[in-house]
Amino acid sequence: MSLDSDFLIVVRNLAIFFVVVFWIATAYWVYKDARRRIEDPWMVAMATVLGAVPPFLGPIIYMFFRPPEYLEDVRERELEIKAMEKRLALRDLHCPVCRAEVDASFLVCPVCTTKLKQACANCKQPLEALWQICPYCETRVETPATIDFGDTWETPRRRRAE
Ligand SMILES: [Zn+2]
Ligand SMILES: [Zn+2]
Repeated sequence: MSLDSDFLIVVRNLAIFFVVVFWIATAYWVYKDARRRIEDPWMVAMATVLGAVPPFLGPIIYMFFRPPEYLEDVRERELEIKAMEKRLALRDLHCPVCRAEVDASFLVCPVCTTKLKQACANCKQPLEALWQICPYCETRVETPATIDFGDTWETPRRRRAE
């Protein structure tokens, strides 16, 4: 064998070596990327196989079809939405007049004494404005969606009319 053909064999082997390394690297990259984007381990395995076969073309096909977002981003966004919903729910629990924090069970605002809810005539539980009947004791709500001002001249008159 001549020195020249020895050299060519070395070059060829080196080239094959680098192609194989590059092939493994791209397949491994697909595996790593798929794990960050896909939850189902079977789908991750399939993506990895696609990343390996066909060599080099597989990762390009994978890039076309991979989920657009990382799982951690999706989770973070879900958490943000939950936190926002919580904030919105909390906003309802403020006095409409003075914005003081109030409890869902409060009948009046303790800060500015604004009437927040009507109490059940029978069991004194706070009632929501739309309720037709007290859910705690089944007493019918006399004046739904209006605010009871307590001992005004209107109260006895309404009772007499019933
Ligand atoms: Zn208030
Ligand atoms: Zn009641």
